[in-house]
Order: sequence, then C-alpha cells, then structure tokens
Amino acid sequence: MTTTAVQQPGGDWVLNGAKRWIGLATLANVAITWAQTGHHGDGRGVRGFVVPTDTLGFSAEAIPQKLSMRASVQCEIHLRDVRLPADAILPADSAIGLKGPFQCLNEARYGIIWGVMGAARDSFNAVLDYSQQRTQFGSPLAAFQLTQAKVADMAAAINNGLPAGSPDWAGERRRHPRRSYPGDDLHRQAGQLPRGHRLARDAREMLGGNGITLEHSPLRHANNLESVRTYEGTDEVHQLTIGRALTGIGAFTASMK
Ligand SMILES: Cc1cc2nc3c(=O)[nH]c(=O)nc-3n(C[C@H](O)[C@H](O)[C@H](O)COP(=O)(O)OP(=O)(O)OC[C@H]3O[C@@H](n4cnc5c(N)ncnc54)[C@H](O)[C@@H]3O)c2cc1C
Repeated sequence: MTTTAVQQPGGDWVLNGAKRWIGLATLANVAITWAQTGHHGDGRGVRGFVVPTDTLGFSAEAIPQKLSMRASVQCEIHLRDVRLPADAILPADSAIGLKGPFQCLNEARYGIIWGVMGAARDSFNAVLDYSQQRTQFGSPLAAFQLTQAKVADMAAAINNGLPAGSPDWAGERRRHPRRSYPGDDLHRQAGQLPRGHRLARDAREMLGGNGITLEHSPLRHANNLESVRTYEGTDEVHQLTIGRALTGIGAFTASMK
C-alpha cells in the first residue's frame, strides 16, 4: 500500500499516490480509496476515504488498447496532494486495515463466479449447436466420438462448477444472498476460474476457424476470462490463500538473501 493519507493540524487529510486498473474511475463521481495512514494499532493503519473525483489533485485516465473486457473502462488514477475534510475517512469499525477492501473482494468474487459459469455455459451451448450443424466427411461433428468426449467433459465441468450443484451452498445463498463465505467457498470459487477459462478456450478450438470470428462467443468469453484470472485476486494469490488455509503457513512473501 503506497498511497498515503496524512492528517493535517486542522483535521483535514492529504492523500498522495496512484492506483492502476480502477474500474469506471473516469466516469465515477466518488472514488472509495484506501490509503496508509500510519502504524496499525493506534486506530490508523490502512483506512478508507470518500474522495469526490472533482477534488483538486485527483485525476483519472482510461487504460487504452485492452484485449480483454473491452466493453468496460479501467483507469489509472493519481492523487496529488488531494485535500479532504476530516470526515472523509470511513468509520473505523467498517474499514480498518485491509479488512474493508478484502470484504469487497469477497462480495465481488461471489458475483464473478456466476459470470464465469455463465460464460462457460454459453461456450458449451455454442459448441453443442455448432457441432450438430457443421459436417465433415459427411457427418456432423457431433457424430464423432472425440467431439462427444469433449462435450461430455464440458457438461461435467459445468455441473461440478455450478454453485447450484451444491444444495447446501445454493440454499444458504438463497437465504442470505449478500453474505460472504470467504472460508470453504473460496476453494470452490477459486477453482472455477481456470476451469471456466479452459472450457471457453476448448470451445473456441472446437469451432475451428470460425471460432476466431465475432460470430461466435467462446473466444470473446475466453478473452474476458483472462482478466477474471487476475482481478479480485490472481490465480496465484488464490492458491497461496488456499495453501495457507491447508498448511497453516503463509507463503505470500519471498525472502531475498
Ligand atoms: C480488468 C481488470 C479490472 C480491475 N479492476 C480493479 C478495480 O476496480 N479496483 C482495483 O483496485 N483493482 C482492479 N484491478 C486490479 C487487480 O486487482 C490487479 O491487477 C491484481 O490484483 C494483480 O495485481 P497486478 O496487476 O499489480 O499484478 P502483480 O502483483 O504485478 O502480479 C503479477 C504476477 O505475479 C504474481 N504474484 C504477485 N505477487 C505474488 C506472490 N506474493 N506470490 C506469488 N505470485 C505472485 C501474480 O499472481 C501475477 O501472476 C483490475 C484488474 C483488471 C485486469
């Protein structure tokens, strides 16, 4: 956390720093921003701030030429001596340390897993359809055993991955749609991201040359899922989180000797 917030004698806060890949920052009126305020333990540490984006010193620039998630805007933001009133800080009980931002990620991951499964299902449906229409050597692709093996594996992957496949989880979710389940569910959710991505890429392959056109959805899904494997926690960080839960040992930092 390199962005800092320093409290001034009159109570105002002054924020300095930069953050990249911030969604919708060129369009938003308010940027909820986490910054390092001092040592943890005195009620400070990392804290959240409400930053109106028209505050002097705040700037945002859209990141151009993305090959993934092209329909949404991510930005690089800069905070240069951004002065905020004393009450711009979020209350300590809701956002102290990194708990606040991590809670946001837990919420977001739950939505993302549905997106991943939707992309996987759509890729599967595209392939099922196409393989029945496209003929080679006088037979539809769907009549070849290798095609059937692939669609069978895809169906199994989707059924394993769909949160609805787990009755206890789906039931809990229906009762508490906004609740986060960072523990056990992290294993299930994190595991689905690479699986959904692989499925979309396999579906693209099964469409042959036509699969690289915009006429078919799987490559678009696969490209978008490239981002999903990075934001809200990269694959590697998910692995490390699960590894720590299983072994009790955190391996997030490397020591350089
Ligand atoms: C489309 C998109 C939207 C985003 N939206 C937002 C947003 O709205 N708000 C926001 O705050 N952020 C957002 N992000 C940022 C996202 O959270 C980061 O890109 C992500 O956390 C990875 O950080 P990084 O890009 O700096 O990669 P790095 O940290 O540079 O990582 C590069 C590689 O090294 C690996 N790595 C890093 N540290 C370790 C480690 N300790 N051990 C092992 N491997 C490691 C990573 O897993 C990765 O493979 C978005 C990103 C994308 C692509």
